[in-house]
Amino acid sequence: MASEDQQINSKELEEAFALFTEASHQLSNAYAVLQQDVASLTEQLAVANGNLKQQYEEKAVLSRRLSLLLDRLPAGVLEVSELGLIVRCNERALDLLGRSLDGLNWDEFFYRHFTVTSETTIYEFNAEAIKKYFTIEQVKISEEAVSVVLLHDVSSAVEMREILARNERLVAMGQMAAGLAHQLRTPMAAALLYVGHLQREQLLEADRIKFAAKATERLKRLEVLVQNMLLFVRGQPQEVSSVSIGEVVQDALAEVRSIFEPSGLQIDLQNNLVDTKVLANFKELSGAIGNLLENACQASKPGQHVICKLELNAGQVEISIIDSGVGIPKATLERLFEPFFTTRKGGTGLGLAIVRNLISSYGGEVSVTSTPNFGSVFKICLPRVLEATNVSGQG
Ligand code: ADP
Ligand code: MG
Repeated sequence: MASEDQQINSKELEEAFALFTEASHQLSNAYAVLQQDVASLTEQLAVANGNLKQQYEEKAVLSRRLSLLLDRLPAGVLEVSELGLIVRCNERALDLLGRSLDGLNWDEFFYRHFTVTSETTIYEFNAEAIKKYFTIEQVKISEEAVSVVLLHDVSSAVEMREILARNERLVAMGQMAAGLAHQLRTPMAAALLYVGHLQREQLLEADRIKFAAKATERLKRLEVLVQNMLLFVRGQPQEVSSVSIGEVVQDALAEVRSIFEPSGLQIDLQNNLVDTKVLANFKELSGAIGNLLENACQASKPGQHVICKLELNAGQVEISIIDSGVGIPKATLERLFEPFFTTRKGGTGLGLAIVRNLISSYGGEVSVTSTPNFGSVFKICLPRVLEATNVSGQG
């Protein structure tokens, strides 16, 4: 019985030992695999660490370069926080604005020291004896809830433009004075000549009347010239109100037709507008349209038609005066609107200059296209008055 027990025990022991050996084999295999994994993971970690370090170094270089660049940039750069506070500015911004702006509220600073100029993209900066002109760009970086404000100093460009404009005005004044003298001289010399004849002792009554009439005619011409001159230099339009463009054009047409239709010219109206209004002085605008109609008639031959067309284009009122007359050479086109530029014998060269001055004072534009020997189109564009905004109810 006892030996039977012993036999079983040694058998069980053998089996247990075999199991144990097997398990320890499996364990050591698993351990070897684990060791391999650890080695490869350590290797991967080293590579990742290396990459990170490299990326970090690259970023540091980039950041150094960026801040160097930021400080050397010719533009002022401000960083504005979500709350509107200036958190950082580059050196150029300090230079331009004369002081550090850190911690200030950008909007408050802007409204206190910047005013927009007639050119809406340029702002005048005024603070502590500094006066400069800037263009300002504000860019929002939405991912970081901050904005970057870029300030470009355009003071020297603005100054240059002012000097240029002043010189241009002086040149224009000189040209005008020369033109005026030229225009006045001929009728004045003629008037003097006829008045001289009147002083002759033995003068027939018929001659006296003839010379007096001629002198008067030349003096009247001088008067017209001076009146046109005043109209041109006055610059400011008379009182304006909302007027019906159809009625203004009818007024101009009536005047010009009475002069030119007897000589075989026909002036047609193509009115594509219904009850359309513009802001202008009725008589002045009628006079300007009359000037263009008159020029068109003077450029046309009997039998030809001059067309006056009214239409709306992109919300603007367009008045086109179309003729099929002599046309205008390209070289002349650029000079048409200069005061005293004329190719007509007896012309004053003030008609188109007056028209352009007046129309631009109404916020409109005059343009011209022309083909020599085929004719010309002069176009006036004026802002349309919408009835809702016509609060004064005039016109
Ligand atoms: P003026 O009529 O006294 O000459 P304007 O300023 O009215 O002065 O016109 C200037 C010049 O422009 C004219 O002398 C003429 O050469 C040219 N011009 C104007 N309108 C026309 C037209 N419709 N066709 C051809 N030439 C024109
Ligand atoms: Mg004219």
